[in-house]
Amino acid sequence: MIKIKPCPFCNSQNIVYGAIWSYKYTPHGYRMICQDCGAFSGDKGTKRAARNLWNRRDYNGNL
Ligand SMILES: [Zn+2]
Repeated sequence: MIKIKPCPFCNSQNIVYGAIWSYKYTPHGYRMICQDCGAFSGDKGTKRAARNLWNRRDYNGNL
């Protein structure tokens, strides 16, 4: 079970995967999105990479 860290801005745990769609039928990337304040991580090619990016962020307010 892999945890997704809460939002560094509003401390929400409502973090979801957001697919980044191109004009094709398959998403070409993912980002993590906070459903409460709208903060999001950078774009990555896979859900795993996007989650790692989100979880790695230090919580000093730096996005
Ligand atoms: Zn948030």
